[in-house]
Amino acid sequence: MHILVINCGSSSLKSSVIDHRTGARVGSCVVERVGQEGSRMRFNGEWEPLDAPNIEGALKIVVPRMVENLGGATITAVGHRVVHGGVAFDRPTLITPEVEKAIEDNFQIAPLHNPPNLAGIRAARSVLPDVPHIAVFDTAFHATMPRRAREYAIDHKVAEAKNYRRFGFHGISHEFVSHLAAKHMEQDVRDLRIITCHLGNGCSVAAIEYGRSVETSMGMTPLEGLVMGTRVGDLDPGLLIQMQRDGMSLDEVDAFLNRDSGLKGLSGVGNDMRDIEARAAEGDERCRLAIQVFAHRVRKYIGAYAAVMGGVDAIVFTAGIGENSEVIRHRISQRLDYMGAVLHEDLNRDAKVSHESPVFEISTRNSRVRLLVAATDESLQIAREAAKIVEARQATKGAERGIPVAVSARHIHLTQEAVEALFGPGYKLTERNPLSQPGQFACNETVTVVGPKRQLENVRILGPTRPDNQVEISRTDEFFLGLDAPVRASGDVANSPGCKLVGPHGTYEMKQGVICAWRHIHMHPDDAEYFGVSDKDVVEVAIQGTSRELIFGDVLVRVSPKYKLEMHIDTDEGNAAELSKGAEGALLSATDGNALLRRRKTRFDEVAE
Ligand code: ADP
Repeated sequence: MHILVINCGSSSLKSSVIDHRTGARVGSCVVERVGQEGSRMRFNGEWEPLDAPNIEGALKIVVPRMVENLGGATITAVGHRVVHGGVAFDRPTLITPEVEKAIEDNFQIAPLHNPPNLAGIRAARSVLPDVPHIAVFDTAFHATMPRRAREYAIDHKVAEAKNYRRFGFHGISHEFVSHLAAKHMEQDVRDLRIITCHLGNGCSVAAIEYGRSVETSMGMTPLEGLVMGTRVGDLDPGLLIQMQRDGMSLDEVDAFLNRDSGLKGLSGVGNDMRDIEARAAEGDERCRLAIQVFAHRVRKYIGAYAAVMGGVDAIVFTAGIGENSEVIRHRISQRLDYMGAVLHEDLNRDAKVSHESPVFEISTRNSRVRLLVAATDESLQIAREAAKIVEARQATKGAERGIPVAVSARHIHLTQEAVEALFGPGYKLTERNPLSQPGQFACNETVTVVGPKRQLENVRILGPTRPDNQVEISRTDEFFLGLDAPVRASGDVANSPGCKLVGPHGTYEMKQGVICAWRHIHMHPDDAEYFGVSDKDVVEVAIQGTSRELIFGDVLVRVSPKYKLEMHIDTDEGNAAELSKGAEGALLSATDGNALLRRRKTRFDEVAE
């Protein structure tokens, strides 16, 4: 498929036509200084003057040229980069007038980026009205961040009313390079914990746990986090108050922190890392300090994110500085040996990446954590996302077949060793009733689960016995017991807290295994084929036939010939959906932006009431 990718700024425009499978560029155009003196465009490598009053005018020139350039081939879809998706968009979305309106609603939280993004969308839709246009958001990849990472510690009523929360950016790039890294490592991204460092003019780090972003350094706006070209990154908010007390106006503070800080502010020579490195090498003290502060901040985040994920398998460097600066990579990678990351200095010096050869490994052979340089390609990622939506629109079976939904009460799976400790030597679990999943049964036996704070009695054991002990509880139970249980897929118990179990014969100390079950759908391979999903995919499901319609995002798909089609949610989730017997879920196709938006709106309105 040929996808036209458009990235519209306030006075600049980048666009290319990309074959979404190969990443090959069939045409490209860069436009600079639109509406200003010296306005020009570079079409397939050649610069020429451009006479357009604004971005809309520029697109009306550029898009027909790109189409002409295809020599008879057609554009299947247009992918638009949109910086801020706000709370409404957590995935790439087919653009409709309703979607345009929702992007407009986010102007207030992204005043610099969303207005030109939307102007580009409107102009491109008027020039190419007959192809689907898809918005791909910089924030969407981070929508999986848990609340603990998303919330600022401020009055929750104000936070909710104003949507003051962390969103994160550069998601298109973080997602793209995490997949590149996994491919290079010949592993599934869903089995890896990756820290991606996007170090360009804007900089951010992301913690990507098993394919999902769980933390990132940018927040409500792209100002938080790392030191950037001209942006300050992390700062004591008390300083904002002090600056205003010292007489700076709001606009002055804004300009100071967004345009005159970061590398530019620290170095005093500008925001280009190449210049700063050159001056530092000549002995310029301020440039040396700029480099030290920059690298120190990144290293600090890497340590923090390894702690957040309980370990890390790969650290990836990308974007202008990450891909090109051996000096910065060297500094960041110092003193990471304690976590098993060892830089190979020669490889680091030699590293070169390109679209054709996008990954270069710079860790030593015995480094447990792989250090990688990866060439980001946000346009290709946008083209892929747009193509995915086009393909899914062509196969719209998903929502027509209901998925039975069951509430899974708290329960426990035990090893034979634990069974014997709790019920006596040689004891065998006895079946009370069979469960919906073939071969699984609820037992007559129960145990008491003891947490640091309180205990839960009569927790049902599910059989048969398993290789690992696992207690599955809800968030409410978690707080009741006083435990911090991570959301995990069944069987994934590494680095989870333990607890004490009490049975009629004795007690048993579980070292780990207390989790909140990640809501999931069991599917037979035939079901998976029908729905067009595979094991470990994450989907969105609308619950129907209840008194409240609700959409559950972030639902894990588990496929096995042993499974029968059924979605499992915990008691908190069941209560939230006011689930009644016979409730069904509809697997939503990600393409249906309108339906998603309508449903989501209903949900937010309900919450607001
Ligand atoms: P943007 O965020 O605008 O897409 P880029 O990813 O192009 O930015 O990154 C721009 C940054 O990369 C600049 O600070 C530039 O100095 C830096 N950079 C590019 N090449 C090198 C290099 N060889 N050595 C050091 N820094 C580099």
